Amino acid sequence: MSTLCQHLTTLDTQHLRRDTQHICPECVALGSTWVHLRICQACGHVGCCDDSPNKHATKHFHATQHPVITSAEPGERWAWCYVDEDLREY
Ligand SMILES: [Zn+2]
Ligand SMILES: [Zn+2]
Ligand SMILES: [Zn+2]
Repeated sequence: MSTLCQHLTTLDTQHLRRDTQHICPECVALGSTWVHLRICQACGHVGCCDDSPNKHATKHFHATQHPVITSAEPGERWAWCYVDEDLREY
Protein backbone atom coordinates (compact mmCIF):
# COMPACT_ATOMS: atom_id res chain seq x y z
CA MET A 1 0.00 0.00 0.00
CA SER A 2 1.33 3.39 -0.93
CA THR A 3 0.24 6.44 0.96
CA LEU A 4 -1.61 9.11 -0.96
CA CYS A 5 0.31 12.27 -1.64
CA GLN A 6 -1.58 15.08 0.07
CA HIS A 7 0.17 17.67 -2.09
CA LEU A 8 -1.37 16.24 -5.24
CA THR A 9 -4.76 15.28 -3.84
CA THR A 10 -5.26 18.85 -2.61
CA LEU A 11 -3.95 20.48 -5.79
CA ASP A 12 -6.59 22.72 -7.38
CA THR A 13 -6.20 21.76 -11.02
CA GLN A 14 -8.82 24.30 -12.06
CA HIS A 15 -6.60 27.15 -10.90
CA LEU A 16 -3.07 26.06 -11.68
CA ARG A 17 -0.25 28.52 -12.04
CA ARG A 18 0.69 28.97 -15.69
CA ASP A 19 3.76 30.28 -17.42
CA THR A 20 3.35 33.36 -19.55
CA GLN A 21 6.58 33.61 -21.56
CA HIS A 22 7.41 29.93 -22.02
CA ILE A 23 11.10 30.33 -21.28
CA CYS A 24 13.40 29.16 -18.51
CA PRO A 25 14.62 32.53 -17.18
CA GLU A 26 17.64 30.99 -15.44
CA CYS A 27 18.76 29.31 -18.68
CA VAL A 28 18.29 32.55 -20.57
CA ALA A 29 20.50 34.28 -18.00
CA LEU A 30 23.15 31.57 -18.48
CA GLY A 31 22.89 31.65 -22.26
CA SER A 32 21.87 27.99 -22.10
CA THR A 33 19.00 26.00 -23.58
CA TRP A 34 16.39 23.63 -22.19
CA VAL A 35 14.19 20.75 -23.33
CA HIS A 36 10.90 21.08 -21.44
CA LEU A 37 9.52 23.53 -18.89
CA ARG A 38 7.96 22.87 -15.49
CA ILE A 39 6.00 25.24 -13.26
CA CYS A 40 6.26 25.32 -9.47
CA GLN A 41 2.71 25.35 -8.11
CA ALA A 42 3.78 26.93 -4.83
CA CYS A 43 5.23 30.14 -6.26
CA GLY A 44 4.94 30.06 -10.06
CA HIS A 45 8.67 29.59 -10.68
CA VAL A 46 9.34 28.32 -14.20
CA GLY A 47 12.28 25.97 -14.61
CA CYS A 48 13.58 23.37 -17.01
CA CYS A 49 13.12 19.61 -16.74
CA ASP A 50 15.60 16.87 -15.85
CA ASP A 51 16.28 16.21 -19.53
CA SER A 52 17.67 19.73 -19.74
CA PRO A 53 21.35 20.40 -18.94
CA ASN A 54 20.63 22.67 -15.99
CA LYS A 55 17.60 20.99 -14.36
CA HIS A 56 16.32 24.26 -12.94
CA ALA A 57 12.94 22.86 -11.82
CA THR A 58 14.61 20.23 -9.63
CA LYS A 59 17.17 22.74 -8.37
CA HIS A 60 14.28 25.00 -7.39
CA PHE A 61 12.76 22.19 -5.34
CA HIS A 62 16.06 21.54 -3.54
CA ALA A 63 16.46 25.25 -2.85
CA THR A 64 12.90 25.92 -1.67
CA GLN A 65 11.27 22.55 -0.81
CA HIS A 66 8.26 23.59 -2.89
CA PRO A 67 6.81 20.12 -3.53
CA VAL A 68 4.67 20.22 -6.68
CA ILE A 69 5.42 21.04 -10.31
CA THR A 70 3.26 20.77 -13.38
CA SER A 71 4.32 20.47 -16.99
CA ALA A 72 4.26 23.70 -18.98
CA GLU A 73 4.20 21.81 -22.24
CA PRO A 74 1.06 22.14 -24.40
CA GLY A 75 -1.04 19.01 -24.23
CA GLU A 76 0.68 17.66 -21.11
CA ARG A 77 -1.61 17.55 -18.10
CA TRP A 78 0.19 16.13 -15.11
CA ALA A 79 1.58 17.19 -11.76
CA TRP A 80 4.59 15.73 -9.98
CA CYS A 81 5.35 15.78 -6.26
CA TYR A 82 9.07 15.70 -5.48
CA VAL A 83 8.49 14.87 -1.82
CA ASP A 84 6.37 11.76 -2.38
CA GLU A 85 7.69 11.06 -5.91
CA ASP A 86 4.14 10.74 -7.12
CA LEU A 87 2.51 11.65 -10.43
CA ARG A 88 -1.07 12.75 -10.96
CA GLU A 89 -2.72 13.30 -14.30
CA TYR A 90 -5.57 15.75 -14.46
ZN1 LIG B 1 3.38 15.03 -2.04
ZN1 LIG C 1 16.76 26.15 -16.96
ZN1 LIG D 1 8.46 27.48 -5.99
